[in-house]
Formats: sequence, structure tokens, C-alpha cells
Amino acid sequence: MKVHLKQIPAQGLNMEGEEDSPIQELESEEIRCAGRLHYDLDFGVAGGALWANGSLSQPVELRCVSCLENFVHDVRAPAFAVHMELRGPETVDLTPSMREEILLNLPAHPHCDRDGDRVCQAKQVKTAEQDTRRESDWSALDKLKIQKR
Ligand SMILES: [Zn+2]
Repeated sequence: MKVHLKQIPAQGLNMEGEEDSPIQELESEEIRCAGRLHYDLDFGVAGGALWANGSLSQPVELRCVSCLENFVHDVRAPAFAVHMELRGPETVDLTPSMREEILLNLPAHPHCDRDGDRVCQAKQVKTAEQDTRRESDWSALDKLKIQKR
């Protein structure tokens, strides 16, 4: 995101919108962009510096470390803040700061059930195993009963 200083009035400015994801060139097997970056930022100019703060969110497709399935997760940065000294150019590029903020908020060990809207297959397999074990316990008991008769 590039901001021209003439865009920002003395009383500040709020800008909300979407733009192309700043992390596209960092895509890999484990992370893919799943949409555009959404921002809701307040801007101001004070004391020869530009400041901006607000929130960012970026949908990404991650790979679950448990089941290795891909899932979409909204990376949220609720307290994004930058303060940049103004020297020379009247246009300030916030893209590097935004990219850094999104990367900082990426989960290091993503689990597909972290948002609570799906069940991780890896965990389901574990539960199924436990169920089978419980069943075999009961069948052993049944055999005992038969022998008593
Ligand atoms: Zn999973």
C-alpha cells in the first residue's frame, strides 16, 4: 500500500479496503494466499512523521501439521502500527511493514481445527482407535459371561 502525503488531511484519515496480498512472493508448500489483504487503518501526519494504525487481515491456505490437509485461515493483525520519518519522497510505501506484520501473526505450527470450524482428521483417527479398543474390552467381557453360563 502506497500513501501519498497529500491524501492525508491535518485531522487524519481513515482508510478501509482491500488490496493485493503483500505476501504472494513468499508462497511455499505450506502457505498460499487465499484472498486479498483487508485493511482498516487510521493515518495521520505529525512532527515530520507519518503514522498509521489499525487492523489487517489476510486469508491464507496453510497445511495442518497433524493431518497434512490444507485449510484456510484468516491471519489477523489487530494492532498494526507504523511510524515513519518523512524525508524526501511524498509517497510512503507501507507494503513491507504490512508484509512483516502478517508474517509475524502466522501460526508457527498450524492446526486445521484452530478456528473451531472443522475437526482435524489426525485427531479423529486417534478417537476411532480408542473406540475400537473399548469395543474389544466389552467383547472380552461378553466371552466371560458366556463361559460362566
Ligand atoms: Zn489437521
